[in-house]
Amino acid sequence: MARYTGPVCRLCRREGVKLYLKGEKCYTPKCPLERRNYPPGMHGPKQRFRRKMSDYGLQLREKQKLRRIYGVLERQFRRYFREAQRQPGMTGENLLRILERRLDNVVYRMGFADSRAQARQLVSHGHFMVNGRRTNIPSYLVKPGDVISVRPESRRREYFKHLLEAMEHKRVAEWLEVNPQELTGRVLALPERHQIDIPVNEQLVVEYYSR
Ligand code: SF4
Repeated sequence: MARYTGPVCRLCRREGVKLYLKGEKCYTPKCPLERRNYPPGMHGPKQRFRRKMSDYGLQLREKQKLRRIYGVLERQFRRYFREAQRQPGMTGENLLRILERRLDNVVYRMGFADSRAQARQLVSHGHFMVNGRRTNIPSYLVKPGDVISVRPESRRREYFKHLLEAMEHKRVAEWLEVNPQELTGRVLALPERHQIDIPVNEQLVVEYYSR
């Protein structure tokens, strides 16, 4: 599946909020949003004083923000939205739940990677197993009860050898359980809305696609 390969800090500057796409750097003063908190491009600085955004503009920005946080391109995102509409309950929450269930997101949420982009790379390089089977598809959707583990062959790699120390400082999502010593984790349940800490108003995304 295709992915965005351009500069990611531009995406945060476009949305005007931290999307945490770069791992460690996002938490340091080196984050470009700290120094240049205006949209990218030649006219970026002037746009700080732009007139009020239309309803459509607000909906579009919210949709782009959500898509960029999870690193999903438009076509697949639209597919997720249609799937969310088919499910019972609130479409916006369903959409967030589908995005959270992606294997790359779960690997990130479990603390095995610093960012979703890094998690995606680790997954597509075949370092993870789901229920004992090697799975290299970042968009794989996990279910409650699934066990995610680092492949035995991959544990010898430098990255995974040093992961334990790094994982001590990471906060694991409530709907997941992790055993850092064993490099495994389990999906306890699907996340509720309050367990998904992303700065997005999903109702605006629903309105965007319901025009
Ligand atoms: Fe966004 Fe992180 Fe880049 Fe800051 S460092 S602009 S939060 S991706």
